[in-house]
Amino acid sequence: MVKLAEWRGKEIFRKYGVALPKGTVVRAPSEVADALRTAGVALPCVVKAQVLAGGRGKGGAVRFAATVAEAEEATKAILALEFKGEKVHEVLLEEKLAIGRELYVSLTLDRSRRLPLAMASAQGGVEIESVDESAITRVWVDPFPGLVGYEKRRLVAAFGLTGALARSAETLLGQLWRIFDEEDAELVEINPLAVVGDRVVALDAKVIIEDDASFRHPEYSDVRDDRTPLEEIAREKEIAFVQLDGNIGVIANGAGLTMATLDVLAEFGGRPGVFLDLGGTDDPKKVTEAFLLMAQAKPAAVFLNIFGGVTRCDTVAKGLVEAMTQVPPESKFPLVARIRGNNEAEGRAILQAAGVTSLTDLKESVQAVISAAGGRA
Ligand code: GDP
Ligand code: MN
Repeated sequence: MVKLAEWRGKEIFRKYGVALPKGTVVRAPSEVADALRTAGVALPCVVKAQVLAGGRGKGGAVRFAATVAEAEEATKAILALEFKGEKVHEVLLEEKLAIGRELYVSLTLDRSRRLPLAMASAQGGVEIESVDESAITRVWVDPFPGLVGYEKRRLVAAFGLTGALARSAETLLGQLWRIFDEEDAELVEINPLAVVGDRVVALDAKVIIEDDASFRHPEYSDVRDDRTPLEEIAREKEIAFVQLDGNIGVIANGAGLTMATLDVLAEFGGRPGVFLDLGGTDDPKKVTEAFLLMAQAKPAAVFLNIFGGVTRCDTVAKGLVEAMTQVPPESKFPLVARIRGNNEAEGRAILQAAGVTSLTDLKESVQAVISAAGGRA
């Protein structure tokens, strides 16, 4: 899921002609004065944290500033925030517009109907989940003609706009559809869409690009979600690898077994720190890569929980023993293995010969790895 920060979403909006406040992005308070001048952003301005989480308005991550000094101060305060667990690295400075009304509009994919869905409401600026159903108009869009005239007019009617404002909103809906379609978005949301004078202006932008279409959009390839450096490496190697905040590493195969293993660990008081899903592979090269990645995460102990179905336990075990010899001594960690299924006896023998604790009972294995990691959390 390529979730774009507000300023990136707005860059796309600008390309398609959507009306926006003038704005500029800074990464330090010292950049504020120059950035405002260069971009021609008039005061007072709005100072907004560029995080992926929503609810910034209520959470103190959107501020107003009447002077350059205030904008610097607000930038400094926002850069020091950790908003819903996200560190703030970028701040968007925008001219503060005199808002008439706040509206809501979005285009998304309704997976159950297998159609794009347009939603409009006259009640914008608040979470759409909190808006009464009766105040939301939904239009399912046939993707081939795209959003057509009468559909746009139904959505505009939901905004309660007439005259020049209605025409401005219709134009916006056309632009929004093109963005959704041409950028392969799975969500394009404007909340609030503000009435400013005789036109509607996008004050916020939430754009998510469909992952499966990312090959068509190399321009987003440098957009990193909130992956850690190791997760980034894993992604390039196509290894399913996720870092959590505990100290025990989990290597399993298949998403189901991997998730279940994390649950059982937690159930017995262990704290998973990183997990790695080998999927269907028993390719020793792939196993080695995965194992070395795990070592770099520096877990206190690792629980290897493998079910040999298509993959055979003995090949996985061989791959592991091979991988272990490549782990540098300073990165070595205690390993508890539980491998069940095809050729499990052979697999276990290979592991035991290499000095790996190899158990069959799940509860025993989990307890062994928790104590190897230094006991209960
Ligand atoms: P969110 O809370 O994370 O969705 O952040 P938004 O971008 O939606 O901003 C939150 C609120 O700040 C909006 O609902 C507006 O009320 C307010 N806001 C943002 N930009 C402006 C602006 O240019 N002028 C005024 N008056 N208010 C703004
Ligand atoms: Mn918003």
